Amino acid sequence: MSYEINIGILALQGDIEENIVATRDAMSSLSLNAYTSPVRYQKELESVDGLIIPGGESTVIGNLLTLKSGIRTTLQKRLIQGMPAMGTCAGMIVMAKKAYDSVVGKMNQPLLGVLDIVVERNSFGRQNESFEANLPIDGFEGEDFRGVFIRAPSATKVGTNVKILGRFAEKVVAVQQGNIIGTSFHPELSGDLRFHKLLVALIMRSRKE
Ligand code: GLN
Repeated sequence: MSYEINIGILALQGDIEENIVATRDAMSSLSLNAYTSPVRYQKELESVDGLIIPGGESTVIGNLLTLKSGIRTTLQKRLIQGMPAMGTCAGMIVMAKKAYDSVVGKMNQPLLGVLDIVVERNSFGRQNESFEANLPIDGFEGEDFRGVFIRAPSATKVGTNVKILGRFAEKVVAVQQGNIIGTSFHPELSGDLRFHKLLVALIMRSRKE
């Protein structure tokens, strides 16, 4: 039996197109009857089976979510109810419980608070604003995952219900809490679809439950 799945890409700011392409590629490589759609409004958010919150600028994404407060509340509710989601870079920051900046310190930015981690923004220093690294990821078979880091955060504290999927330079850079995945890096930019496929697998599983 085939059924459709609809994966939303939160399209307020940031790396939207790249995530749409990577998600489409992941789904077609799995021969699924699935499509992706941008999410900006309440109705669009209500109709998706899973969501990607892309990288970009977490303060901007958080503020736009708050301004359109209908979507912020609905998003929080859906994530708490178990909708599968992946936040990459700024997207992981937006989902976190707490965030601070490695230089500026405490930040008063709006967060969804659904992922039990404390995030340090710009965690890899100014000299190292962007770099790539090979990362062993828990649960991924075969070669390391090529992580593309751009002014990347890391998780400096993780709750007991959060699984650490990957580390770089002793910092936590990939996590999973139930149906929520967070990555410090940009999986949509490495040409490796395993994180997008993991999200699709979580969606398929939650559709069956
Ligand atoms: N430094 C950005 C922030 O704190 C994240 C950068 C990114 O998403 N590539 O929001």
